[in-house]
Amino acid sequence: MTGAELDARYARQARFAGIGTDGQERLLRARAVIVGVGALGCAIANHLARAGVGSLTLIDRDIVDRSNLQRQMLFDEADAAAGTPKAIAAAARLAAVNGGIEIVPRVADLNAFNAERLLAGADIVLDGTDNFGARYLINEYCVKHDVPWVYGGAVGASGMTLTVVPGATPCLRCLFPSMPPGGALDTCETAGVLAPIVDTIASMQAIEAIKLLAGRAEALHGSLLQIDLWQNQWQSLAVAGARNPDCPVCAGRRFEALEGNAEDEAATVSLCGRNTVQVMPGRPLALDLRALEPRLGRAGGAELTAYSLRLHLPGGITFVLFEDGRALVIGTEEAQTARRIYAELLGE
Ligand SMILES: [Zn+2]
Repeated sequence: MTGAELDARYARQARFAGIGTDGQERLLRARAVIVGVGALGCAIANHLARAGVGSLTLIDRDIVDRSNLQRQMLFDEADAAAGTPKAIAAAARLAAVNGGIEIVPRVADLNAFNAERLLAGADIVLDGTDNFGARYLINEYCVKHDVPWVYGGAVGASGMTLTVVPGATPCLRCLFPSMPPGGALDTCETAGVLAPIVDTIASMQAIEAIKLLAGRAEALHGSLLQIDLWQNQWQSLAVAGARNPDCPVCAGRRFEALEGNAEDEAATVSLCGRNTVQVMPGRPLALDLRALEPRLGRAGGAELTAYSLRLHLPGGITFVLFEDGRALVIGTEEAQTARRIYAELLGE
C-alpha cells in the first residue's frame, strides 16, 4: 500500500510525524483485544476503531443498563431498553463507524477456562475491566505469551494506567503483589464515577496502544500514571527500575491465575453498581436456549434473543441466561438468592 492508496479517513493521522504512512499500515494489520466494554472499553474501542486498528475483539459479560448511559459512550436508550449485550451493541455501533476493519464481539466472562482461547492472536490487550481478578489473568496471559497490555482503572474522579511490555517493563504483579482484599478499594458502586476521568484514562490507554501497534514503543510514557480530575493532580511514577526480581509472574513464570483450578473461582460475582449477580455453572455448558425456552418460560415471561434467553420472574427479578450456562440475575445483590434462582431453573 502506498500513501496515495491509504483510505482518506486516515489522512490526518498518517500526516502526524509519529505515525506516518508506515505506522498507519501497521495499525491496519494489527489485532487488539479489549476486555470489558464498559466505560473504559467503549472509549478505547471507539478510538481504536476510528484509528484503523485492523481487528478488534470486544469481550464483555454484561448487558446494557440505563445506569450505563452516563459514561458508556457507545450505547443508547434503545440498547438499554432491549438489554443488548454490551459486546454486541458496541460492535454494531463501531461497524457503522468503520466498515473497513474486523470487529469480533464475544459475549463472555474472561476466566481461566477461556482466557487462552479468547486472547489468542492478540498483538495487544486493553484492560477495560473493573476488577483485579481479571487483570491478574490478563497480566499472566500477556507475560506468558509476550504480548503487551495496558492496565486502566477509574473510580470517582480519579484513575490510573500502566503499560506492561513483557521483558521491558515491570508487570502488574511487580507493582501490585497481592490482590486488594474485597472492600478495600473504592468502586464505582461506593464512590460513583464521572465520565471525563474514564475518557482521560481510556485515551491514555488508546494512545499507548497506537504507539505500540504503529511500532513506536520509544514514545510510551513508561510510568504508573495517576490522575485526579477533581483535585487537579497528575502524578507520574517512573517504573523503569521497578521490576521485582521475585515476581512470581514475570520472574518466576508461574501463572497461577491462568492455570489455576477454575473451580476455585467464585461461582458468583456481583457486577459493580448494577444490582446484578453473575452466576457461573460449575463447568462450561453448551445450552440450546431455543429448546429451553418452552420449559423455562413457565417460570415467567420469556424473551429469546440471538444471544440470550431472558425471563421476567416474580419479585422484579430478570434472569438472563447465555449459551455457556452463565446467567445474570438482575434485581438482587445477594449471591445466595441468585444461586437459589439459578438452581431452581437449571437444576445445576
Ligand atoms: Zn512481574
